[in-house]
Amino acid sequence: MKRADETPKVPRIKLWPRAVVPYQIEVPPEASVELQRAIDRYQQLRIFSFVLRTPENAEEFPDYLRFVTGKRNFSHIGKAGGGQEVQLAPGFTTGNALHEIGHALGRGHEHCRSDRDDYVTIRWENIDTHAIIEFTRHWMGPAELGHYDPTSIMHYSKMTFTKNGNHTCEPKVKVRNGLLMGQRKQLSDLDAVAFGRLYQQESGQLYQQESGQLYQQESGRLYQQEAER
Ligand SMILES: [Zn+2]
Repeated sequence: MKRADETPKVPRIKLWPRAVVPYQIEVPPEASVELQRAIDRYQQLRIFSFVLRTPENAEEFPDYLRFVTGKRNFSHIGKAGGGQEVQLAPGFTTGNALHEIGHALGRGHEHCRSDRDDYVTIRWENIDTHAIIEFTRHWMGPAELGHYDPTSIMHYSKMTFTKNGNHTCEPKVKVRNGLLMGQRKQLSDLDAVAFGRLYQQESGQLYQQESGQLYQQESGRLYQQEAER
């Protein structure tokens, strides 16, 4: 029998052309503050142009994100076509929104990267049966995303989807940037690098000049490969 992690498979995802991301906000005004903070943070990366979709420009932007309230936080990975929902559960935080927008921009979960086994140990025996699929490796790795980052906004915590209170995912690397594995507070420096790499064809020269250097620095400085006890 094949183990759940033996076949990296995820269909090639669609990125947003020219890194332009049209969107509509359909969450209640009190919740839109957190959402707007997340959108602003992505804008600050100077990779993406988030464009508010209006009746005036609707024809120009047939594909767009619809931020809606849902039962749980959920997003398709990459551009799906048409008005695609990014669902945000009541009480969502800026960090939750950063995570779901990360999916919508084309990133899967960090702990599912092709190179994850060098950085984390998946404890299959502790994972809720219905959530096994959330730990399946996909094809993206260092070439697409840069250095692996346990503190990525796209990474699970040690306990995500545990069925018995024991760890589902354990880091093999010591993290040196002051963030926790599975944090939902902010984009890490390496998240910025990952989005830049993923979109370097779409977003053009600006990123390549500014962040190529960042990538070199961050991957050397922040991480050491040593077992954590
Ligand atoms: Zn997710």
